[in-house]
Amino acid sequence: MTLQFEIAAAKGRGRRGCLKTPHGSVETPVFMPVGTQATVKGVPQDVLEELGVEILLGNTYHLFLRPGIEQVRKLGGLHRFMSWPRAILTDSGGFQVFSLSDLRKVTEEGVMFRSHLDGSSHFLGPEQAIEAQIGLGADIIMAFDECTEYPADPLRARASMEMTLRWAGRSRRYFEEHKGEVPWGSRQPSAVSHQENTRSLDSAGFSLSLKSRSAGDDISFKKEAKTQALFGIIQGGMDHALRKESAERTIEIGFDGYAIGGLSVGEPRNLTREIVESTLEHLPKEKPRYLMGVGTPEEIEGYARLGIDMMDCVLPTRAARHGLLYTSEGKISIKQARFAGDEGPLDPNCPCRVCRRYSRAYLRHIYAANEVLAQVLNTIHNLSFYLDTMRRVRHSI
Ligand SMILES: [Zn+2]
Repeated sequence: MTLQFEIAAAKGRGRRGCLKTPHGSVETPVFMPVGTQATVKGVPQDVLEELGVEILLGNTYHLFLRPGIEQVRKLGGLHRFMSWPRAILTDSGGFQVFSLSDLRKVTEEGVMFRSHLDGSSHFLGPEQAIEAQIGLGADIIMAFDECTEYPADPLRARASMEMTLRWAGRSRRYFEEHKGEVPWGSRQPSAVSHQENTRSLDSAGFSLSLKSRSAGDDISFKKEAKTQALFGIIQGGMDHALRKESAERTIEIGFDGYAIGGLSVGEPRNLTREIVESTLEHLPKEKPRYLMGVGTPEEIEGYARLGIDMMDCVLPTRAARHGLLYTSEGKISIKQARFAGDEGPLDPNCPCRVCRRYSRAYLRHIYAANEVLAQVLNTIHNLSFYLDTMRRVRHSI
């Protein structure tokens, strides 16, 4: 199977649906926590499950440099390596190449860059980015794109968009030729695979294939039975006409879902919203729509109500590590002296394990003392708050 997307209800422009991936269902609209280096910093996988996380994001750039794609592939792919049986989405690595590495050189072929870790030289183009993402084995992978910088003049925005379109075509071609090489197609042991097998047995496709094939064809049919989904990315800077053209031509290439990229790159927030609204008008209703790298709790709620199905952002996890916590009463900085004697919960309206158990006074103390547990607890609460925000939106649609 590849990705299935069903829309269950709609209200205004917002919609509630379900993404069916080879590693379980994902209720949408969904917020995807960022697990940069095969970990959501500070939070064990069992706690993520308890919070109700159904899909995580992994960063190809980081995993490509360390521990390396081949290593993860040999260990059975990202799900098995990090012991995460639910869905995963990986980005293409393009965004981090542009934001983290120095001395990069962009050509038609791709991007030559130096690692931010040790200065070593590497190359990522559409083929390498898709090959890497097939090796990692996420359920949803992304076409290689160029994130247009802000501000960009009209000529530069068009040239960048045209390059992204050519790279989208190459990403798609490489994916079609190699999608059978995903690690969960040929390796079976582990708890993760056991669940996959059960799922395959339930599907109609399995029994049909089984009848028409001999036992020796087992592995090849498993590859066919489950493949990754590939999403295209809309670019075009802050220009409505370019965004429309980028959407139309990306749809022409044909993808399982469509992402809006190149936003939240320093432009004013009202401009982000305008571009999202106008781009959405040109995306097919029946396919999932993913807004990359956005935003605050108010923003993710707003975008979900505009019809965005998927979002990711480092904000809740990064802010948590700096003691900035989102609550139903607004954002607070736990380091402030006013919390030193405060016996109340962090957020009286939050049912998370942190708010049920610890006082603001304790959270402030461990943060001030620079204890590792402060980062862990702060992150758990912020993620819980983001996930609850999306849950509330889903219930209201
Ligand atoms: Zn909480």
